[in-house]
Amino acid sequence: MVSRTTDDYQAMVTAGCAAVCEPAFWAGYDRKNKDGFFDYFLQLTEYEPRRAKKYLLPHYCWLCINPKESEDMGLANDVISLIPELLAKPTVLGIGEIGLNKNSRNELLILEKHIQLAADHDQLILVHTPHLEDKLKGTHLILDALKNHGSIEPGRVIIDHVEEHTAPLVLDQGYWAGITLYPESKATPHRAIDMFELYGHERVWLNSACDWGHSDPLAVPRTALELRRRGYDTDFIDKVLYRNPLEFLSQNPRFKPLG
Ligand SMILES: [Zn+2]
Repeated sequence: MVSRTTDDYQAMVTAGCAAVCEPAFWAGYDRKNKDGFFDYFLQLTEYEPRRAKKYLLPHYCWLCINPKESEDMGLANDVISLIPELLAKPTVLGIGEIGLNKNSRNELLILEKHIQLAADHDQLILVHTPHLEDKLKGTHLILDALKNHGSIEPGRVIIDHVEEHTAPLVLDQGYWAGITLYPESKATPHRAIDMFELYGHERVWLNSACDWGHSDPLAVPRTALELRRRGYDTDFIDKVLYRNPLEFLSQNPRFKPLG
């Protein structure tokens, strides 16, 4: 949302969205130092919730240094040191989106640090999985890192951007699976619905990638229309679009979507 206009907030409320949950992620350019991240974290935890509130939409966020910028370990460690204090902000949901981008050794070390940070502060975790040819290997590496930690409860972790070949790996180990809707990569509404049909609809939810590139903040409500076209009833649509994310996010008592 930091790169979207207020028209998008209005459109989302009008389409029935009950909350926005914005991960800390790559801003489209690499930030040079930890001060750049500190300002970004204040934008996520102070300014954006106020801006969204003008349109009656509760705004929540996740905090971390994203995997793409974690290659610089000095910077990553500096940024991680900022986070514990910011976890006290009332709209922070947990640690994310952490994960891997190119499956490098440094990214993996910083992923492990974030997992420890979440464990130390009893936080929910949101994980980004890599793109295209790196996704399958990256998903295995991420699942191993979570399992090797030893104290992370799978039901408190959502592995995001799953596709047809990674959704069963995630679900079989008890994690939540996020299907990200995006016009140019990740999943389309058609493929998301195919995945429900292949792997069921427990511990799965949908999210719209919504950023500075070609993306659609209304991708989730548009998928509701597509579900209707394919014959699903209101109860099913409410379950996958609303009750599933509500169940996961309500593990953090701060989460209060519009009723
Ligand atoms: Zn991501």
